[in-house]
Amino acid sequence: MNRQVVTRGHIDDEVAAIIAATDDDVFRRGVRDWLASALQRLAGSTDWRTRAIRRDFRLEFETYLCRAGFSALGWPRRYGGHALDLARQAVFLEEHSRIEAPLPVNMIGHGIVAPTLLAHGSEEQKERFLPGLLDNGTIWCQGYSEPSTGSDLASLSTRATRCEGGYRVNGQKIWTSFADVAHRCFCLVRTGDAGSRHRGITVLLVDMKSPGITVTPIRQITGDADYCAVFFDDVFVPDTDRLGEENAGWSIAMAAAGFERGTYFIPRIVRLRSELEQIVRLAARTPRGDARAIDDPRIRLEIGELLNDCTALRALADDMLRRTARNETPGAEGSVVKLLWSEAHQRLYQLGMEILGTDAILGPGEECAPRHGAVQFQFLWTRAETILAGTSEIMRNIIAERGLGLPR
Ligand SMILES: Cc1cc2nc3c(=O)[nH]c(=O)nc-3n(C[C@H](O)[C@H](O)[C@H](O)COP(=O)(O)OP(=O)(O)OC[C@H]3O[C@@H](n4cnc5c(N)ncnc54)[C@H](O)[C@@H]3O)c2cc1C
Repeated sequence: MNRQVVTRGHIDDEVAAIIAATDDDVFRRGVRDWLASALQRLAGSTDWRTRAIRRDFRLEFETYLCRAGFSALGWPRRYGGHALDLARQAVFLEEHSRIEAPLPVNMIGHGIVAPTLLAHGSEEQKERFLPGLLDNGTIWCQGYSEPSTGSDLASLSTRATRCEGGYRVNGQKIWTSFADVAHRCFCLVRTGDAGSRHRGITVLLVDMKSPGITVTPIRQITGDADYCAVFFDDVFVPDTDRLGEENAGWSIAMAAAGFERGTYFIPRIVRLRSELEQIVRLAARTPRGDARAIDDPRIRLEIGELLNDCTALRALADDMLRRTARNETPGAEGSVVKLLWSEAHQRLYQLGMEILGTDAILGPGEECAPRHGAVQFQFLWTRAETILAGTSEIMRNIIAERGLGLPR
């Protein structure tokens, strides 16, 4: 029962020593110093903060961390994880955000697929897929939304038809983040009849290199193209790449949605506090008439309210981590976290734009913009956050119906 299923490859000696530290302060200082020197090493002579929003740099840094040993911090040891307790996981995230390290790209892999595989995958699937998450060699995307299926996921129509040894998949997914760089897709398909809704859905772990898959990137308001349309034309998927039973994918999808709206957002919640501190520093150095923006009572009030949100979210995030450690799937609380965080994050960068004043019209990436337009970039990007992983309206419905038991 307790055999080692996945063995992690060699990890950096310094990282091994940090992970093994018995003293909390030694652990924190070790993480802080290691992350700073790793970022400096990768960024060379340029300031990494100006590159932190670029996808290639984000991916490079993420893979560097994973290969050095900073991945799967909380997974059980038998699957190659470090089995670190929650406090230590939180320290890692705090230090990661304190130095404004780039956000990871394989967030779907680490934040959604890994916990779902650990909970629902066969031992053979864990053995096959977890190593690619440990070293970040396998980037995952999530194929849920379709042109006529977003909030009402149970109406999806991408069809998987039985054939010898597996399925033939036909249909289209849309808004699939990072599909252009992904190796695998955590994909929901219809295996039941057309009207079967949630009873006829199956999860397939589709190899993105399979013949018949076409990926077309879609440009966003930020100018980047982080998400894509994915077309399936008679794509063969073997039985061994089905997660769980045929037509029983809905409960797995709901468990994954729980992780997505709960633990998946924890790194971003921890980061919210340091993002707020950056905006406070911006307000403190930005002139406003004879004074500074931070002297404006309206700006001070909004900073105070955002600080309250950070504190509430941090308490919710800690609770979420405790539940995950007990192998519980976050329920409606995950929707509370997602809703509060996405709306606070939007307000934070709205405030940033107000502080910038006329400089706010300089676009992301422009040399003359303060910090290359990082605030403008985030302001534009946060527009998407009340839509992705379930819109704010859907989150409010879930909280009302499942959390508070109000009538539908
Ligand atoms: C940046 C970004 C990345 C994304 N990445 C992925 C990804 O990787 N994989 C993936 O599968 N999808 C992804 N999505 C898609 C996202 O999950 C959907 O956009 C979202 O679920 C909403 O679906 P929809 O766009 O079809 O809108 P619709 O469901 O058509 O909703 C339209 C509007 O109607 C409202 N509405 C719908 N139903 C109700 C209701 N019952 N009650 C009240 N209001 C309602 C919605 O709130 C919304 O305002 C991404 C989206 C974005 C913006």
